[in-house]
Amino acid sequence: MKKIAIIGSGITALARAWELQKCGHMVTVLERSDQVGGSICSCREGAYLAEEGPNSIQVNSFEVDTFLKSIPGFPERAIYASVDAKKRFILKAGIPRIVPISLLSAVTTKLWTPTGKLAFLKKLLTPTINPGIEESIADFSRRRFGNELYEYAINPMVGGIYAGDPESLSLRHAFPKIHALEKRRNILIVAAMDVIIAARKKNKPRFKKAHTFF
Ligand SMILES: Cc1cc2nc3c(=O)[nH]c(=O)nc-3n(C[C@H](O)[C@H](O)[C@H](O)COP(=O)(O)OP(=O)(O)OC[C@H]3O[C@@H](n4cnc5c(N)ncnc54)[C@H](O)[C@@H]3O)c2cc1C
Repeated sequence: MKKIAIIGSGITALARAWELQKCGHMVTVLERSDQVGGSICSCREGAYLAEEGPNSIQVNSFEVDTFLKSIPGFPERAIYASVDAKKRFILKAGIPRIVPISLLSAVTTKLWTPTGKLAFLKKLLTPTINPGIEESIADFSRRRFGNELYEYAINPMVGGIYAGDPESLSLRHAFPKIHALEKRRNILIVAAMDVIIAARKKNKPRFKKAHTFF
């Protein structure tokens, strides 16, 4: 048994502390603020539960799924995403536009102009750059999808996931899988299809909404 100190009490630290403790180590978590959870912070007002930070998790690996299920009480308390939540909207010029989720809706959507769609098609053939170069999500998206898709697809999506600025978030660290895909396949859409097909084959378990972690 080892005595281990972990600095910070965000989900990264708590997950590691939980695993180390299960292995029999004595773990002390040190936190500078007056509450645990880091970005994860829930508050109740009357009958309502609101999340100040993350509100959902996409279980996209066996390890995460196993880990979550290992937490007593977690599977029973997990709230699955409603099918209604599949519809996402992005505000453009004051009008909420539904985010396309099929090829047909991507072609017909008013979220992107015909010029933006053509730019996207042209960008599909953009060759990869040196994988050693550290690119921001914004630079990668503009290079790969064009400015309009960056503004009205990637930027809001990244905001929803990280609440961060894509200009200063590293693609390699924020979306390592996309970074790896780009290294493997010159045409990103082909690489994305690989992933979708592989995911279907694996038939992974998914639960997308889980309000309380610990
Ligand atoms: C508004 C918002 C919405 C989000 N939505 C989602 C979502 O829906 N789904 C999703 O998967 N992700 C989402 N994210 C991202 C997700 O919340 C973070 O990736 C994750 O919570 C980060 O956890 P962490 O433990 O790495 O860091 P943090 O949560 O930042 O925790 C770090 C902790 O360490 C403490 N600390 C730092 N330095 C010290 C020190 N020197 N001494 C002691 N303590 C220290 C901090 O006080 C903090 O408590 C969202 C983020 C935000 C901000």
